[in-house]
Amino acid sequence: MEYYLTSVADVAAGLTTSPAGLDAATARQRLAEHGPNQLDDTQQKTIWQLVLHQLADVMILVLLAAAGVSVLIGEAKSAYVILAIVGLNAVIGFVQEYRADKAMEALQKMAASHTQVLRDGQPTHVLTAELVPGDVVLLEAGQVIPADVRFLAAFTLKVDESSLTGESDNVEKTVDTLPPGEYPLGDRLNLGYRGTAVTNGRATAYVVATGMATELGKIAALIQTDEVVTPLQKRLGTLSKRLSVVALVVGALFFGLGWLRGEPWENLLLVSISLAIAALPEALPALVTVSLALGAGRLMKSQALMRKLPAVETLGSVTYICTDKTGTLTLNQMTVQELYEVPAVTLDGLADRNALLTALALNTDASHDPENHWLGDSTEVALARYAEEKEYARPALEAQFPRLAELPFDSERKCMSTLHQTPAGVLVLTKGAAGSLYKQLTDSQQASIADLTRRVDAQAAQGYRVLAYGAKLLPELPADLTPAAVETGLTFLGFASLVDPPRAEARQAVAECKAAGIIPVMITGDHKLTAKAIAEKLGIISSQEELVLTGSELAELDEPAFAAVVEKVRVYARVDPAQKLRIISALQARHQFVAMTGDGVNDAPALKNADIGIAMGINGTEVAKEAAAMILLDDDFATIVEAVRHGRRIYDNILKFIRYILAGSVGEITTLFFAPLLGLPITLLAIHILWINLITDGLPGLALAYEPSEKNSMQRPPIDPRQTIFADGLGWFILCVGLLVGGITIAMQAWSIRQGLPHWQTMAFTVLCFSQLGLALAIRSRRESIFSLGLLSNKPMLGAIALTIGLHLMILYVPFFNQLFSTQPLTGAELGMTLAISSVVFWVVEIQKLIVRRRAVAGVPQPLVQAPRPAAPSRPAYQG
Ligand code: ADP
Ligand code: MG
Repeated sequence: MEYYLTSVADVAAGLTTSPAGLDAATARQRLAEHGPNQLDDTQQKTIWQLVLHQLADVMILVLLAAAGVSVLIGEAKSAYVILAIVGLNAVIGFVQEYRADKAMEALQKMAASHTQVLRDGQPTHVLTAELVPGDVVLLEAGQVIPADVRFLAAFTLKVDESSLTGESDNVEKTVDTLPPGEYPLGDRLNLGYRGTAVTNGRATAYVVATGMATELGKIAALIQTDEVVTPLQKRLGTLSKRLSVVALVVGALFFGLGWLRGEPWENLLLVSISLAIAALPEALPALVTVSLALGAGRLMKSQALMRKLPAVETLGSVTYICTDKTGTLTLNQMTVQELYEVPAVTLDGLADRNALLTALALNTDASHDPENHWLGDSTEVALARYAEEKEYARPALEAQFPRLAELPFDSERKCMSTLHQTPAGVLVLTKGAAGSLYKQLTDSQQASIADLTRRVDAQAAQGYRVLAYGAKLLPELPADLTPAAVETGLTFLGFASLVDPPRAEARQAVAECKAAGIIPVMITGDHKLTAKAIAEKLGIISSQEELVLTGSELAELDEPAFAAVVEKVRVYARVDPAQKLRIISALQARHQFVAMTGDGVNDAPALKNADIGIAMGINGTEVAKEAAAMILLDDDFATIVEAVRHGRRIYDNILKFIRYILAGSVGEITTLFFAPLLGLPITLLAIHILWINLITDGLPGLALAYEPSEKNSMQRPPIDPRQTIFADGLGWFILCVGLLVGGITIAMQAWSIRQGLPHWQTMAFTVLCFSQLGLALAIRSRRESIFSLGLLSNKPMLGAIALTIGLHLMILYVPFFNQLFSTQPLTGAELGMTLAISSVVFWVVEIQKLIVRRRAVAGVPQPLVQAPRPAAPSRPAYQG
């Protein structure tokens, strides 16, 4: 059926529904029939897919090849061991990915949207995924249309369909049946499409198509949804590719040299393959995903819901947090502090009622239920409640002076009007920003504007939000209900001053931000002086050089002029949402990494363009939430700062395990490669290397993801998103530590051979294994010593180390495993000696950290303030 060519009644008949909606039983039955209202999700993995995913890893394939080679050369025993190790590794990987998937699922559940529908004639909230054809949905400004719908009632309804049609102007929707003909999507004025946004008005509509049957679903089927790759994963990918080349070269070299020395080729081949495996950090990208997903789970506990996984990683790079004032920095608990009445203003038709209080009670959409629970915008509630306390209750007054029409509030006009019937004519009441009202006053009142401005500014300078009221009488309802016709020639009645106390934790969070090299910027529709007063209270403005800019001042600056000051502006007042975009791009052009909050429909473009868009969970619209990378469940500024702290921790820890695993690989390669060059026998067997690489490296590596925040993580500049993995001497660290690990292993081997100890191989194996455990402990912090961190501050690490030691001792002392791994039980003295030598790595890294700390104390500059960033060709320019 072409729903746009069909009358509302016929649509209802076609869908067997009615304006009262479906009953619950029918809805359930249709849900079973049509399936859930969601787009096919390729991300959802079944358990079997997860298992296969583990096995399909390139490294695993190489390992399986190694097992094959072992069988070919008659080393079936090695093949079993390799297979067992592969299995064990797959189990560990599976458990981790499964947990990560569960964490992501929980996030998705939290982010699941709800829609208001009529079921059995009653408005109810249902999961958007449970909508079925025939449902009657109730839509209002700020919502994303949840399915394809046919409107049956619409009030000043406007929809932004740009996501579907590319048309950027909002489309006015109607309920009228269209005359027969061909209509492209954008012209079907009585239909609404899934994924488009209601920007104005409200509507009731029949659901006509859900899930993949919607227009969006048809497109989604065409577009292959890519898996999201985070900047770090991209860099790791590049790194992996380079390392594969290294691995190949090292493997080939090793094989060639051994061949020349006349070693048996079967052995050489196996060890070459193991070498290649040692050099490949194939598991790293998956490990990164796992720690990001687990990190997102932790963030949710801190009230930050991550909608996009890469944002978890890039949170640590934020240099500017541009935040709304009302509700984020303040409590959004408005109270009227005082009223100012312009003397001797009376309005005909109100009898001897007070004009200002009448306006407070009538010009509002706030209301309360019998139990006195107030509903509505907090500013409006404060004003209406104040009036009610003065015996000017809205319901009684509205009964006498019924509302005929209204011009709703919008944040560009910064005012709203209601029109009421009175005995003397139609009364227009307007409230809004004082500045918006001055322009509209009658000529006779123009003279008093200077005096009014002085009074309003005095209030604003104390941090009050000032709402001014104006009124006029018209003989009849104007045909033209536009601001130009209604909100002009007003008489100023007076104004109300409201307080909205700053959040207690915001001041602390602002200070923390600044210490972390992040600049908090307040963006508000409020008066310049109000904004400035609150910014000063919170510490956002703390010096003369920091600027406050109003929207109109901003509009007058051209790009170069704005670029010159943008980094100094701490408060933007009286801005409209469109200007947020300009602020973002100016900051980004200066290579800043911008987090931006928003709640309204018109904040969506800014949220999309910011490096991290943050939507309000409580006061935010669906549209804003869908555009954001992160949702603040508690709307609290402090939560953003907390999220940044988590982001930095997660990033730090990822770098730690990358460092750990790479240093381990360098150690293994050094050992295998140099021992023969020094005239020693090949140090280890292939299975030894696999064991260390997959088990000894893997378990403590994972545990590093559980490391708590570094003490100074919020006292250092943000992470430059373009920084490579090897920045800050990391490459050198990996190389030096790797050489050390390899060096002591070879030393152990050489010494025990010289002493004629028969267990030299097992001893070298043990040193290589234990020295990496020492490294895992020491690498937990980049600066702090393990003794000040405390062993117990990362319990998973202790567990991983204990488990690894236990497994290793099992290989050393259980005869069955001796057989399998070609190891021998070490004597007490030998074991002691390997332990002592292994601990060298631990001590060396601890001493290196001590030197780093000493230098910091000695005053080698530790930049607290952000150093200027080097120019980059384009953003975001992530490189390997
Ligand atoms: P914020 O950025 O702090 O949320 P808003 O965009 O909500 O600011 O409000 C900007 C200005 O619009 C306020 O300072 C006030 O003067 C005016 N205003 C806010 N809410 C209303 C309302 N419900 N009715 C009339 N004017 C309002
Ligand atoms: Mg607001």
